[in-house]
Amino acid sequence: MNLDKLKTTAGLDLAGKRVLVRADLNVPVRDGRVSDATRLERLVPGLKDLAGRGAKVIVISHFGRPKNGPEAEFSLKPVADTFASLLGTKVAFAADCIGDAAAATVGAMKNGDIAVLENLRFHKGEEKNDPAFAAELAKLGDIFVGDAFSCAHRAHASTEGVTHHLPSYAGPLLMEEINALRTALEIPQRPTAAVVGGAKVSTKIPVLTNLVAKVDKLIIGGGMANTFLQAQGVNVGKSLAEPDFHKTALEIMAAAKAKGCEIVLPVDAVIAREFKDGAANEVVALDKVPADAMILDAGPASVKHVAAILDGCKTLLWNGPMGAFEISPFGEGTFALAKQAARLTKAGKLVSVAGGGDTVAALNAASVTGDFTYVSTAGGAFLEWLEGQELPGIAALTRG
Ligand code: AMP
Repeated sequence: MNLDKLKTTAGLDLAGKRVLVRADLNVPVRDGRVSDATRLERLVPGLKDLAGRGAKVIVISHFGRPKNGPEAEFSLKPVADTFASLLGTKVAFAADCIGDAAAATVGAMKNGDIAVLENLRFHKGEEKNDPAFAAELAKLGDIFVGDAFSCAHRAHASTEGVTHHLPSYAGPLLMEEINALRTALEIPQRPTAAVVGGAKVSTKIPVLTNLVAKVDKLIIGGGMANTFLQAQGVNVGKSLAEPDFHKTALEIMAAAKAKGCEIVLPVDAVIAREFKDGAANEVVALDKVPADAMILDAGPASVKHVAAILDGCKTLLWNGPMGAFEISPFGEGTFALAKQAARLTKAGKLVSVAGGGDTVAALNAASVTGDFTYVSTAGGAFLEWLEGQELPGIAALTRG
């Protein structure tokens, strides 16, 4: 996949053109109302740009996981209504994303109009990447714009199939995300650090394997650090750990050594005997974890050590918390390091890119999301990129 082959619609004459935009409108909806419109807000400037250039802008997306065709609770109608108010314009809504309803809505559009079509996943052909369904979608547009990075790890009809039928371009949000990730991982300023935390080694083996080949320092935190420590003979008491993955942990350490990547593990820990808010806790050195205790956060010496490493780096990639940050006070290690990364970024010393659901939640809790260079809200696609995988929805846009 040659990312330099991605084209945008810049410079194209779009007047009167039907532009089919694959966006990610999969936002949280509660009681028929959008409860977090961040994703929609980010789409507004790009869609306004297309409309302002005289295009007929047709937005398609999935929403939730409907199992058996159309279901009211998975309708995109409330999302289309919120979109209309954010765009400050009327947004037509088609009750189906293909067939007569879609054709009628699109047929009635004037230059500069915006329409949203009903949930793609009301048709099984979407997730199956059924060529016939992709062809039906493609009938609605003259060109296709892929602008849903978060869906690009799936070869679905609306992310991959449709590109076989229409001239296809990368949208502005997708480009922004790719540029941020390339800056952090493919063409970074060195030295580079990656923080990988979270619960388990088993879910992030490909991420760790790919990163040791690419970054200068790999900082491992959270529950997965316990497995690495245990593999080296450290007694981690009742901590979350995966003894079945000792061998994997040691292999990753050996690969890192061979590639000149320094693996950084905690040197102390905040331990508790209960996994709950306000549990009595103490800081111990790693050779002093009592048999009946759990490691729930990185200790102050670990935080200091990692903060000093970040201070010496120019690029940071972050996925996964350093501890059980959702329960107080075991988020302190994660929050302190997030604040340090934010400070260095604000001072112009660090390019910081973070992503993943828990990581975004942790950065929000530390009130530093806006201070990072880029924060990705794409869960699966972000992780697959970190794994070094080719994302089919992006590869499809590079075919030219
Ligand atoms: P992941 O989805 O793999 O990124 O894992 C995130 C989860 O890991 C969060 O819910 C954290 O609470 C949890 N976690 C991180 N560190 C620990 C730890 N030391 N013990 C238990 N859970 C942890």
